[in-house]
Amino acid sequence: MRAMILQAPRQPLVEADIPVPVPGPGQLLIKVAACGLCRTDLHVVDGELPHPKLPLVPGHQIVGRVAALGPGVTSHAPGARVGVPWLGGSCGCCRFCEEERENLCEQARYTGYQQDGGFAEYCLADAHYAFTLPAGFDDLQVAPLLCAGLIGYRAWRLTLEALPPRRHYDIGLYGFGAAAHILCQVAVHAGHRVHAFVRPGDARSAAFARRLGAVEARQADVLPVRPLDAAIIFAPAGELVPAALRAVDRGGIVVCAGIHMSDIPSFPYADLWQERQIRSVANLTRRDGEEFLALAPLVPVRTTVRPYTLAQVNRALDDLRHGRFEGAAVVVVDESLADANPDEE
Ligand SMILES: [Zn+2]
Ligand SMILES: [Zn+2]
Repeated sequence: MRAMILQAPRQPLVEADIPVPVPGPGQLLIKVAACGLCRTDLHVVDGELPHPKLPLVPGHQIVGRVAALGPGVTSHAPGARVGVPWLGGSCGCCRFCEEERENLCEQARYTGYQQDGGFAEYCLADAHYAFTLPAGFDDLQVAPLLCAGLIGYRAWRLTLEALPPRRHYDIGLYGFGAAAHILCQVAVHAGHRVHAFVRPGDARSAAFARRLGAVEARQADVLPVRPLDAAIIFAPAGELVPAALRAVDRGGIVVCAGIHMSDIPSFPYADLWQERQIRSVANLTRRDGEEFLALAPLVPVRTTVRPYTLAQVNRALDDLRHGRFEGAAVVVVDESLADANPDEE
């Protein structure tokens, strides 16, 4: 089968012909239709996440159909459409797993990082971590829900848990890429005011945010028109943490939603004082996946996708690195998908 392979960090992926894997106990063999590409893939390829499996097939927002069942799998039927997220498996028996916090499991395995992912014609997945996907989304549109959507949703859920109940919040989204463009729709639909913060000079992302319902879109170092109840940071820039802290009101929270961030500069304690909080959000749980994939069609979330072919993955990574597109990049693996014409742009 065709696959795009990382042989060593900081090198381009190379196209290779490798054997179709054989599903073991509890696993699904999936024929991949499309696979989203996110900033975490960039961190893996750029060597910012330690000890990837090598050689590695990256890609962790996999949409495909069950091609074969490993021994003992009864949860899925051949031909069923499934989605595979970043969290590819956990031990199932540690304290965190027993508390349904498998996102913190020390034995967790991550798709497209510690096990091969979806930039290939076929992949394996733990059947317990393969989600049924909502109808009404085609294969391309649904792919970004599996990481951009899910990580954003977990950040959103933990944000709401930290705030007193109120009908409307002012929410800042720092970095308006794949995750923010989905979460913005969820928050606006729930009646909240979204304030978008983009890189200096990034007028395109600012306009994109306003089109999706943000009440304002400005540079991250400028204070919002009113104090925020919460700020969610998707951009991997540590200097946004003190900037966001200055933008949140007393009792507010700053949520760091990325897996990797540059160092956070020091800041005066007065900026944290008055019960402001900073927290990170790690990965996702299966509960997050089930809740978000049920919520997305109700909003309904409409994803903006930029398709690429499998052979164009390196270009997609580079375009993401330089912020050259709106919304989310999706690699179209099954090029017979009728609605995908990646070469036409
Ligand atoms: Zn565990
Ligand atoms: Zn991701």
